[in-house]
Amino acid sequence: MNQDIYEKYKDFDEGEVATYIPELGRANPDHFGICLASTDGRVFSVGDCRHEFTIQSICKPFAFQMALEEFGRDRVLQHVGVEPSGDAFNSIELEPRSMRPYNAMINAGAIAISSLVKKDSPESGVDAFVGSMQKAAGRPLRIDECVYASEAATGNRNRAIAYLMLNCGIIDSGVEHTLHQYFSQCSLLVNTCDLAMMAATLANLGINPVTGETVFDFQFIKDTLTVMFTCGLYDHAGEWAFRVGLPAKSGVGGGIIAVVNRQLGIGVYSPRLDAKGNSVRGILACKELANHLGLHAFEFTNVGSNFMQWLNS
Ligand code: GLU
Repeated sequence: MNQDIYEKYKDFDEGEVATYIPELGRANPDHFGICLASTDGRVFSVGDCRHEFTIQSICKPFAFQMALEEFGRDRVLQHVGVEPSGDAFNSIELEPRSMRPYNAMINAGAIAISSLVKKDSPESGVDAFVGSMQKAAGRPLRIDECVYASEAATGNRNRAIAYLMLNCGIIDSGVEHTLHQYFSQCSLLVNTCDLAMMAATLANLGINPVTGETVFDFQFIKDTLTVMFTCGLYDHAGEWAFRVGLPAKSGVGGGIIAVVNRQLGIGVYSPRLDAKGNSVRGILACKELANHLGLHAFEFTNVGSNFMQWLNS
């Protein structure tokens, strides 16, 4: 199935590689990978699935999960909402009454979360994040220092968002420390199979399906998946929920993850993006997978029955 979808879209060249973070412009636009990881530990990959790229915004649901585990729902919700913004990922806006960012899947919300999860020293906060992500991927991971430096040097819009939130009392005064945490999280190097395994770990109640290690507290996974479902694809989130119907998150590096609860993690990589910052072939591949395998959360054929059939065929 994923082989057919790969063949169908491999020569599709619509969209542009992100260049607003200069280092991202070095990506090879032709790279394309699709990986499925089932919650019983099977992995199906096709294309450039071992090529590494930076996770970018796909770090956001994981950082949100870590904040929920460390601080609990009430405290986290004092700093970030759970409403889709309907606006671009980097919009400079806060909820008018609470002054919180709309949700943790856009830059403002993710920066507020970074402010919470950062630790006393810049290194220890990043190490804690990388440590959890390695467990979710099931292999050692590292930060791409060139992408980090590129974003830290040019990320003044995110700096503006952070200072606005400092002014509104949403984050503390360690603004550069918070941004270090945020830019580092976005600069984590992953491949398509890592993304699929991370998504499968969320699908599998927080347990990595291959290593068997518990990575995330299952009590908060439903919160994370809910916000991914309603807000994961920026201002394309409604259309995505309608057409694909899965909790998901995209990143401007070209990756997308999607989670089929209790069954499957999907990772897709293709760095050509549409005007909203989502991977063009990534969206097409996920749509096709969801349609063919009956993965939409409200599919009448019942939860993923087609997928289980395909898996066992
Ligand atoms: N590091 C990127 C930024 O803050 C992440 C954006 C994204 O992937 O949506 O601009």
